[in-house]
Amino acid sequence: MNTSWKAGTARANITPAEPLWLAGYGGRDRPAEGTLQPVWAKALALEDAGGRRGVVLTTDLCGLSRGSCDRVRELLRRSTGLTTAEIFLTSTHNHCSPVTSDSLVDYYPLDGAVWDGVHRYTRRVEEQLAEIAGAAVSSCEPVTLHAGTGHADFAVNRRNNREADVPDLRAAGTPLAGPVDHRVPLLTARRRNGSLLALLFGYACHPTTLSFYQICGDYPGFAQEALEARHPGATALFWTGCGGDQNPLPRRSMELCRAYGARLAAGVDDALNGALRPLASELRTAFVTVPLPFEGMPGRTELQDAGETGSAIRKRWAARLLARLARGEALETEYPYPLQAWRLGDQLWFGLGAEAVVDYALRAQREFGPDTWTCGYAHELIAYIPSRRVWDEGGYEGGNLYEYGLPAERWSGDVEERIWAGVHAVTARVERTSGV
Ligand SMILES: [Zn+2]
Repeated sequence: MNTSWKAGTARANITPAEPLWLAGYGGRDRPAEGTLQPVWAKALALEDAGGRRGVVLTTDLCGLSRGSCDRVRELLRRSTGLTTAEIFLTSTHNHCSPVTSDSLVDYYPLDGAVWDGVHRYTRRVEEQLAEIAGAAVSSCEPVTLHAGTGHADFAVNRRNNREADVPDLRAAGTPLAGPVDHRVPLLTARRRNGSLLALLFGYACHPTTLSFYQICGDYPGFAQEALEARHPGATALFWTGCGGDQNPLPRRSMELCRAYGARLAAGVDDALNGALRPLASELRTAFVTVPLPFEGMPGRTELQDAGETGSAIRKRWAARLLARLARGEALETEYPYPLQAWRLGDQLWFGLGAEAVVDYALRAQREFGPDTWTCGYAHELIAYIPSRRVWDEGGYEGGNLYEYGLPAERWSGDVEERIWAGVHAVTARVERTSGV
């Protein structure tokens, strides 16, 4: 088996110079008041023995828009020749990071001048992502890649457990309800001298331990920081799994946030010290979009009603859509959902557009094997992506498309079926073609 890969890393500090509004919660009423921990964009470039390339880009942001993802890809296409399929772009969904352009547009009570600052910040982040990807590509050196799995158990299915009950249930040793994915997938890149170049790891849980007014990476920020301190010379990069319906519980204290970061880092170190699988030097990449139709699209009357009686978010949503209709614009009837598959040797890794619920990762493990990795926060932040089960059950993650600015109440009922057809399509394009 040929295990000769090349890899390179780079990073950029994306902590804003000015006090921007923080993303992810609709209830904040003022901008950030300081920085507890810098937020980062990081890149891991890979090249297999056949010269096939890919770059993983992670950010500690809540999520980028489709426009931002497209601009990063275009900058990278021009500077490096990398294609969309070769760029695995993901954000942690951290709720203590700055608001970015065209994402959750009706969610925050911001005026035009504030949005101008957001747009300036976002454009700079897009450039930084392209810069670090280029730097990672040009710093590639010989490495070996290994894959393994650790464990961390702080993610709780938030649909099936009342947040207030969780501490008592945990203390009593009562099993918590609902599906979870407690695996900690790990990819390592080691230099020729045996030292670690990169630790790329995931976990299926919302980074919503904290809800304050300081910039911070939440539990993934502390996990990455701890791993980089323990493994000098290594870059730790985090991706969020299918955690659309998973919360770190209990939460809302710095002590818990640091503890969850430490537990996740310990899960990574357990994987590192456990049975790691060498990955043959063959990289395959594929990307498709599948159209996901909307259901419950509002007409002018529904929007006028929502504009009068809805929540503040719903009023902003209704006013913006009514203005679009007044300009003669047709509202979109579907979303081009992004889906990616990478195969590194025998390691399969899916990237689903954000924010997919845990059922998608569990289905991928059932169908493609227990070592299959599924990122539920790849590419742009779109909306909750329910499975058929969650769609049938309804509730917060079953709909709420309006909160993300989409012109509908929820996805059509075949959302999982359509995504799964796309998963099979990308998987077929990364199937093994040689006996490596
Ligand atoms: Zn979320």
